[in-house]
Amino acid sequence: MKEYDVVVVGAGPVGSVAAKYAAMHGARTLIVEEHSSIGSPVGCTGLLSTRAVRECDIKPSEDFVLNSVRGALVHPMSGESLAIDGKKTKAYVVSRKIFDRRLATMAAENGAELWLNSRVNGIKGAGGKKQISILRKGETERVEAKVVIAADGVRSMVAKMAGLGKVSKILPGIQAEVPYLSDDTDFVELFVGSQAPGFFAWAVPVNESISRVGMAIDPVTVNKREMNAHQLLEKLLSGNSHIASRYGGGKLDLVMGGIPLGPLQRTYSDGILIAGDAAGQVKPTSGGGIYTGALCAKIAGEVAAKAVTEEDYSSDFLAEYDRRWRAKIGKELAMGMKIHQFIGGLKDSELDELIASMNNPAILDTITRYGDMDHPSLLIKKMLHPSRSIHMLKVFRAFAKAVL
Ligand SMILES: Cc1cc2nc3c(=O)[nH]c(=O)nc-3n(C[C@H](O)[C@H](O)[C@H](O)COP(=O)(O)OP(=O)(O)OC[C@H]3O[C@@H](n4cnc5c(N)ncnc54)[C@H](O)[C@@H]3O)c2cc1C
Repeated sequence: MKEYDVVVVGAGPVGSVAAKYAAMHGARTLIVEEHSSIGSPVGCTGLLSTRAVRECDIKPSEDFVLNSVRGALVHPMSGESLAIDGKKTKAYVVSRKIFDRRLATMAAENGAELWLNSRVNGIKGAGGKKQISILRKGETERVEAKVVIAADGVRSMVAKMAGLGKVSKILPGIQAEVPYLSDDTDFVELFVGSQAPGFFAWAVPVNESISRVGMAIDPVTVNKREMNAHQLLEKLLSGNSHIASRYGGGKLDLVMGGIPLGPLQRTYSDGILIAGDAAGQVKPTSGGGIYTGALCAKIAGEVAAKAVTEEDYSSDFLAEYDRRWRAKIGKELAMGMKIHQFIGGLKDSELDELIASMNNPAILDTITRYGDMDHPSLLIKKMLHPSRSIHMLKVFRAFAKAVL
């Protein structure tokens, strides 16, 4: 049986970053990926904040950056759209295929071994080393590891097997890359209200003639309306007059995936760490998981390597991972969940009113100065300041009650 210090399950962005950090800190590391290709298939818009790209330790470059954006146009169900201009590049639209491959390459360059076409289908061993059963090229192979890092995505088998419970909810997401004449490729477009029940829809420009149009929805809200994500996307493409007038027809690519919100109560056990989507380390306000996932993956890689050095793979030792990532983003994720619940519970008319109330130069200036797609709580605190207008305060009073 082959022996490794650390085995990482899943070569998505989180698995690759975790493996790189474990290997960099001296651990003999193996990444196991069930697909035969890195970065494909992948259900993602590929909208990454500048900070998210930095967090992955790579420089934005032409090989994976397809477009840069500096702001957002928010379209309510009725009323004027809200233009939020960040004034400088805030995010990149990337090719996830090339981005993910870059991260996997970096893990390999730091010494991690990578097995493709290899599915982890069982992990055994309590207290000491783990025996991992892997279906590889049609045959079962067994390897041994001191620490397993589960970066196996939203429906994590490892988290389930380790008895670490479930994330609070999983939002179905769907997206099509389509011919779409964008008014301004510097701006993403967001569509809120019952056109994307419980969350929001988007049109993210890849270039002047192609955008990624999709939505995530809250199953609780949608079930009441008896429409699935496919039907809602079709309705958006043909029924939303703003989109319909820019949409050229047909689809170049269609992806679906789940977005986990509300992290696991516990992300470690004896010899096991859970990271990324598998742990629900996703921003509940946007559904983005690369920034938060990469941040946690680095800590997971470091703690796993430290456990190997100190020959202690117990859950008590590995709890350091849980403490460290929660200290960095735990509060932000908790606040994000409250914002998500508050916004998701508003009626169309209330959302229209909220957006109309923000369409004011002073508020827009505050958004430009403090808006941060990775840390929305900072803006919320500024918005709730008592100096805001009475009109604004009326809307935000309910908000403050819900989130603070
Ligand atoms: C429609 C949609 C749009 C999104 N848009 C954005 C966005 O614009 N920006 C953003 O930041 N985030 C976005 N996200 C979220 C983002 O895609 C995820 O947060 C991110 O991919 C999580 O990375 P990960 O490495 O944790 O998991 P994944 O990328 O899901 O990788 C998990 C890997 O584990 C492998 N695996 C699973 N089980 C096993 C097993 N048993 N054995 C071996 N391998 C296994 C899988 O094949 C996969 O490669 C979006 C999500 C959806 C659904």
